[in-house]
Amino acid sequence: MPTILGIESTAHTFGIGVVKNLKVLSNIKRTYTTEQGGIIPSDAAEFHRQNKNEIYFEALDGSGVEEKEIDAIAFSQGPGLAPCLLEGMKFAKELSKRLGKPLVPVNHCIAHLEIGKTTKAKNPVMLYVSGANTQIIAYESGKYRIFGETLDIGVGNFIDTIARFMGLGFPGGPKIEELAKNGKYVELPYSVKGMDITLSGIQTNIKQKINNVSPPQFPATNPKLLTKKHRGLSLSKSKKSRADKRVNYNLNDLAYSLQETVFAMLVETAERALAHTGKKELLLGGGVACNKRLQEMCRIMCKERGAKLFVLDNSLLVDNGGFIGYLGEIMFKKGIRMKISDVDILPRQRTDDVDVNWK
Ligand code: AMP
Ligand code: MG
Repeated sequence: MPTILGIESTAHTFGIGVVKNLKVLSNIKRTYTTEQGGIIPSDAAEFHRQNKNEIYFEALDGSGVEEKEIDAIAFSQGPGLAPCLLEGMKFAKELSKRLGKPLVPVNHCIAHLEIGKTTKAKNPVMLYVSGANTQIIAYESGKYRIFGETLDIGVGNFIDTIARFMGLGFPGGPKIEELAKNGKYVELPYSVKGMDITLSGIQTNIKQKINNVSPPQFPATNPKLLTKKHRGLSLSKSKKSRADKRVNYNLNDLAYSLQETVFAMLVETAERALAHTGKKELLLGGGVACNKRLQEMCRIMCKERGAKLFVLDNSLLVDNGGFIGYLGEIMFKKGIRMKISDVDILPRQRTDDVDVNWK
């Protein structure tokens, strides 16, 4: 029954979990936040550097495990922001050297899926919706394969950007969820491309609506009208009132419509992956999966097609050291371990690049 320390540092969160016998004994994390703009990777790395020791001792204290009982140190090897990953790896190497214990490099996305097994899901399709990542992953023919993903931004980052634009601060997800409770639907673009989704066009559309800029009133195919308008020439009364029309959107409606539209896109692609693989279990992973409306929409879809939905506790959905330690233990028990000199970070590691030699 090994005791594994798991270190997470792929982006905004530095977390350490202590795992023994596939039980997360303690799971401590702190998250770097900004009021404006996104993550500045070097600042996030500095945040990790300043917090790592306290988090480590808090995690050890909380677990009741002594340092000398640790058998291996698992850490997030990728994907993620290089400066942040480096901080986690440096800390893992320091501990490895000091305690004389091996390292277990873990893929962050796969760890999100593996921790789902604690819900009793056996072989699920995972809808992984976090800050930077949006992927539909399942294990097929010896690998974790990506059945669909965002072609541009991760859904959490998308929501956070909109929330910052609305002046709501970070993290935006819970605030958007709250606003959405009192909203009604306004039309937004819906963008599913086969098994994939795109979010940047929807983001621009919502930003325009927040700025109270109504979408173009005239189709681009009506050049006569556009030319007149742009030259400031007088239009007939009815055309003029349409041209000047400004819709007043309210934030509740935009938050509601954002959720309904983007979550429907996620549910559609997740359902297609279930149909394609023939699997009967859907697992949610990543911070956005804390959203109750997304959970509800997934539950309805699963019920309609005779599948089962599995949702972890919020503390295991968001980035944390616990799930890194959890997959670390599985890998360690299969003999996977590395020496300090052989290990490096893999910021662009793809889920389907990983050799799954622990199954
Ligand atoms: P992660 O990268 O997995 O730690 O997840 C962080 C992301 O989850 C951030 O983008 C948050 O805004 C988002 N998030 C957290 N709670 C919610 C929620 N209730 N609804 C939507 N997004 C959320
Ligand atoms: Mg994550």
